[in-house]
Amino acid sequence: VTTFENVNVALFGLGGSGLATARALKLGGANVVCFDDNEDRVEQAAGEGLDTRDLRELDWSGIAALVLAPGVPLTHPVPHWSVDLAREAGVEIVGDVELFCRERRKICPDAPLIAITGTNGKSTTTALIGHLLRELGLDVQVGGNIGTPVLELEPPQPGRHYVIECSSYQIDLSPTLDPTVGLLMNLSPDHLDRHGTIENYAAIKERLVAGAKVAVVGVDDQMSSSIADRLELARKPVCRIAGEHELTSGIYARHGRLIEARDGSQSEVALLGGIDSLRGDHNGQNAAAAFAALRALEIPAGRIAAAFTSFPGLHHRMEVVAKQGRVLFINDSKATNADAAARALASFERIYWIAGGRAKAGGISSLDEYFPKIAKTFLIGEAAEDFAGTLEGRVPYKISGTLQQAVADATCEAAEDGAEEIAILLSPACASFDQYRNFELRGAAFVDAVRALPDAGNTQE
Ligand code: ADP
Repeated sequence: VTTFENVNVALFGLGGSGLATARALKLGGANVVCFDDNEDRVEQAAGEGLDTRDLRELDWSGIAALVLAPGVPLTHPVPHWSVDLAREAGVEIVGDVELFCRERRKICPDAPLIAITGTNGKSTTTALIGHLLRELGLDVQVGGNIGTPVLELEPPQPGRHYVIECSSYQIDLSPTLDPTVGLLMNLSPDHLDRHGTIENYAAIKERLVAGAKVAVVGVDDQMSSSIADRLELARKPVCRIAGEHELTSGIYARHGRLIEARDGSQSEVALLGGIDSLRGDHNGQNAAAAFAALRALEIPAGRIAAAFTSFPGLHHRMEVVAKQGRVLFINDSKATNADAAARALASFERIYWIAGGRAKAGGISSLDEYFPKIAKTFLIGEAAEDFAGTLEGRVPYKISGTLQQAVADATCEAAEDGAEEIAILLSPACASFDQYRNFELRGAAFVDAVRALPDAGNTQE
C-alpha cells in the first residue's frame, strides 16, 4: 500500500495480518516501525528485515499514523498502551482494511468491494459470494477476517471483485470504509468483551452498511432490522434479506427456495433444497445475502441461481464429511456455543449427537426444543458430566469421553436405527481447548475417526 509512501508510521501487533500489513507498508515505501508485546513476534519481524523498536521510544511528533492489528483493544476494557500514545500525540489510528480502502480509492475505485459483517454467518456468506462470482467467470479476491489478510490480496485493477469479511475490530479501525455493497447479516450479543455494550457493538457494525453504496441487511433480528429502517430513512438503497421471515420487499429463503419480493410481486429465484452445504434456515439467510449482493452488482437473477449448486461449503461448519447409506457424518466443530449448535440441530431430523468439550455459560439447557429429534447423545470432554445432568431423563446419553470413542459408539447405535436419514453430528456446543488446541483440529480428528471406520469405503470427500 502506497498510502504512507515516504511517511513515518508506527504499527502495533505482529500476528498474521499485522505482519502482512507491516510488509505491505514497507513495500509501498512507508517508513514503518513495528512492535508487539510478544518478543517472539518482534524477533520474527526483525528477522524479516522489518524495523522493530519499542513504540514508547519513538518521537511521536514525526509519526503520521498508528496502524493497529485487529484484536488489539482500541477502547474496551482498556485501550492498549500504543493507543494511548497515539491519542496523546493526536495521531490517527487505522487498521489494514482502512489501508486497503485508501489504496483502492487511489488506484482503482471502480473495483467492486463487497464487505461482509454480522455476528454469525460472515465466513459462510463471504465464501459463498466468492464462489458465485467465480462461477460467473469474474476476477475475484476473497479475504479479510477469513483466510488471506486484505493486504496480501492481489492489488486492485478494473473488473477485480473484492469480497472481504470484516470483524467489528476491523470496522472500528476503518473510518472511511466505503464498500460498493455492504452486508450486515445479523446482530446478537457477542464479542462484548471488546466493545463494551451491545449498542456500541451494533453502532460499529452499522458503520459498514452506512458507508456502502448499497446496503444488504438481515432483518431476522430486531436490532439489524431497525438499522435497515434507519438507513432507508437516510435514503440509502437497502435490500432486506431474511432466513426466517417472509418479506414484502427484499430476498428471503422459504422451504428451500429463495424468493425475491419487489413491487408487490414475489418470484422464486433459486432452489436451495438438496444442496448439502446450504442446509438450514441460517444458510437460507446466508444464501439470500449472497444473492442480494450479486443483485446489487446488477448481475441478472437468472445467472446466479445455477452457481449455488456447486458451493462446497466451509470446513467444520455442518460439513458433510461422509455418507454411508442412510447415515450422514456431519462435522460442525465450529459450533463452540449452544446457539451455533442449535442451527445444526435444527437442520436434521434424526440425530446422533456428539457434544461436549469446555462448556460455555448456560451449557446446553437452551437446546431443549431439539431434544425430541435426538436419538442419543455421546458426550465428550470436560462438560460430559454437566451435560449428562441436563439430558438426564429426557434424552438417552452415553459418556464416551473421547471423540474417537463417540464416533465409534454413535456409528454402532445408528446402524440399528431404521430412519430414512440419520445424522451423526459433531456439534459440540463447547470450546475445544480441554482436548484440542482449536476447533479446526477437533474437526480434523472427527474426520479421521470417521475415515477409520471399518465401512469407510464409500466415504466421500
Ligand atoms: P462467522 O464467520 O460469522 O463466525 P460462520 O459462517 O463461520 O460465521 O458460521 C459459524 C457458525 O454460525 C455456523 O456453524 C452456524 O452454526 C452459525 N451460523 C452460520 N450462519 C448463520 C446465520 N446466518 N445466522 C445465525 N447463525 C449462523
